Amino acid sequence: MSELFVVGAGLAGCEAAWQAAKRGIKVTLFEMKPYRYSPAHKSEGFAELVCSNSLRASAVTNAVGLLKEEMRALGSLIIEAADATSVPAGAALAVDREKFSAYITDKICSEPNIEVVREEVKKIPDSPCIIATGPLTDGELAGEITSLCGAPLNFYDAVAPIADASSIDYEKAFFASRWDKGDEGDYLNCPMEKDEYKAFYDALISAETVPTDKTDEGVNVFEGCMPIETMAKRGEDTIRFGPLKPVGITNPKNGKRYYAIVQLRAENREKTMYNLVGFQTRLTWPEQRRVFRLIPGLEGAEFLRYGVMHRNSYIDSPRLLDDTYMLKSRPGLWFAGQLAGVEGYVESASSGLVVGIAAAAHLCGREPPRFPRITATGALSGYISDPFTADFQPMNINFGIMEEPDAMSALKGKQKHDKRARAEIRAEAALKYINGYGN
Ligand SMILES: Cc1cc2nc3c(=O)[nH]c(=O)nc-3n(C[C@H](O)[C@H](O)[C@H](O)COP(=O)(O)OP(=O)(O)OC[C@H]3O[C@@H](n4cnc5c(N)ncnc54)[C@H](O)[C@@H]3O)c2cc1C
Repeated sequence: MSELFVVGAGLAGCEAAWQAAKRGIKVTLFEMKPYRYSPAHKSEGFAELVCSNSLRASAVTNAVGLLKEEMRALGSLIIEAADATSVPAGAALAVDREKFSAYITDKICSEPNIEVVREEVKKIPDSPCIIATGPLTDGELAGEITSLCGAPLNFYDAVAPIADASSIDYEKAFFASRWDKGDEGDYLNCPMEKDEYKAFYDALISAETVPTDKTDEGVNVFEGCMPIETMAKRGEDTIRFGPLKPVGITNPKNGKRYYAIVQLRAENREKTMYNLVGFQTRLTWPEQRRVFRLIPGLEGAEFLRYGVMHRNSYIDSPRLLDDTYMLKSRPGLWFAGQLAGVEGYVESASSGLVVGIAAAAHLCGREPPRFPRITATGALSGYISDPFTADFQPMNINFGIMEEPDAMSALKGKQKHDKRARAEIRAEAALKYINGYGN
């Protein structure tokens, strides 16, 4: 007899189901693939990474690195899978997406406390349930969520294209990591002189984009995933200070530096595919082919996947959820993942982890644990449930939403402004708490 329903076997749903099952709860996990696919999902496997293969920075002095380390210490299935299937990516943790998904699917399907049902859920069950259907939630279930939450779900995001490695011109493109961090083979750089940049820039800002659906007019573009052409339109140098910034990169073949650089990152261990870092876009596909082929090294590029725009739905969590992601008006119903207003793979998995632990505690009649905001885990759940937030926007983890630990006040003079020293103190305090936490 099932004690907990989990809807959606994405990053959040898998992590939540795993955490609850590991605490002795019988879980039924619903996944609509392969009978129905969202516009971004393509494979039958669980925890499918629909765009970048990167789980971002590794170092604990970076907020997302710290979040991953906390999750590792808390027994996260998603981080275990990422560590087991990682591909070289400099100072970041990137994965082979197929192996990553296969690892998680296998673990979930062989966990005795989890029953997997491949079926689309259209109604929110009356029994204890976690909704983790992701940013593309639609159809009848979206309608149910809308009536439950009393407000429509609307938002936008965009995805970067992927090029076939064998179609890249390696006479022009060169391998190097910024500031020589990580392996020099992790990033492939397409360098631009000033005139090449200008030609590319002009083509980019005047290229044709996919028209916005009438019903979606007026919704926002998330700042952290802004289409490259939208960013470019803010000013001729904006993208040169963003995804095309050339600083810290020297061509090892000739010692040269450049006016702008487009970085490509390997999609898989075999390095047969590369994504254009920061090139999420809503240019039409023919325009992507024309404009991105102006990038030196990509003149003959074959694009294995073009960038696309997509809906990114989330609920008004600060009004609706508590800091265990539970609906305040209906105890026993939780939201996890992007739908709850966290942004990104790691953040979605983190919310699933907190929800899985909380749901297990709830079902056993115990108070769920609350992670303090000095931890990255607690900062995220605190952010999405903070009733004082006005104009709520999905958020990647960052130090700005974390509380400062007491030890920070011990910093004196210049040290107070030393970003690294501050980050180290944060990491130490957060990991001390997490490592001492008994669940
Ligand atoms: C196109 C696109 C590109 C993105 N790019 C990035 C990126 O590069 N980096 C990044 O960090 N984040 C990216 N994101 C955000 C990303 O979706 C989240 O970070 C993460 O995948 C969200 O995890 P989730 O578990 O909430 O949802 P998902 O991973 O989307 O999982 C939801 C699951 O629920 C299933 N499902 C949906 N509805 C139902 C139903 N009614 N019944 C049963 N099953 C259902 C789906 O099939 C899916 O398997 C992107 C999102 C999209 C849509």
